[in-house]
Amino acid sequence: MNSGEVSPAIDQALRRVPRGAFVGPQWQERAHEDRPLPIGCGQTTSQPSLVAYMTEQLALTPKSRVLEIGTGSGFQTAILAELAAEVFTVELLPELAASARQRLDGMGYRNVSYRVGDGAEGWPEHAPFDAIIVTAAGRALPPALIAQLRPGGRLLAPLGPPEGEQTLVLVDTRSNGEWHRRDLCSVWFVPLVSASLGDLRPRLGEVN
Ligand code: SAH
Repeated sequence: MNSGEVSPAIDQALRRVPRGAFVGPQWQERAHEDRPLPIGCGQTTSQPSLVAYMTEQLALTPKSRVLEIGTGSGFQTAILAELAAEVFTVELLPELAASARQRLDGMGYRNVSYRVGDGAEGWPEHAPFDAIIVTAAGRALPPALIAQLRPGGRLLAPLGPPEGEQTLVLVDTRSNGEWHRRDLCSVWFVPLVSASLGDLRPRLGEVN
């Protein structure tokens, strides 16, 4: 998972998107380091090498339509927007969604659509997607997301306990409707908070 293995297009996208603009002033000096950083509201943005690796796994083309669950700071969103035709991004926390949108609008990204809500339900109005990336960990793959994947499409999601080591899982769908799951590596993501998945935490707002 080191950035040396990353394709030139992804490497270029990572160079074009200034990570420092996605974190608070107190983290500026660390923005160039390959480590996760806080983005407010108790959430984090992944280390750039993991963003690169995950993006690589999606096998995007300039024609791809991508669904992202967990907009967060919008850093991963920007990388996707650099490489794909259209990005649909869903964030549970209105505050993070609003600041990501403002940031990405300001940077000139016009191929991103934003939604505030529970990403475990996907975004059925814009389905099917060529790729779906989930950047928060759930215990199970949300069935709605698999249903919104185009045959031949790819879904990438961390699966596992909310406060522990998780597995990054790649699901690819075949044209006959079958899907295939491959476990890629261990990761540590913030939890996917979802009423529809039921198990992780109480509905947001009751947390803390
Ligand atoms: N990729 C982001 C980091 C995401 S952190 C970045 O580069 O900055 C995970 C995000 O998922 C957090 O912002 C969290 O609020 C959001 N999240 C958690 N549960 C969610 C859900 N059910 N639907 C949508 N977003 C969710």
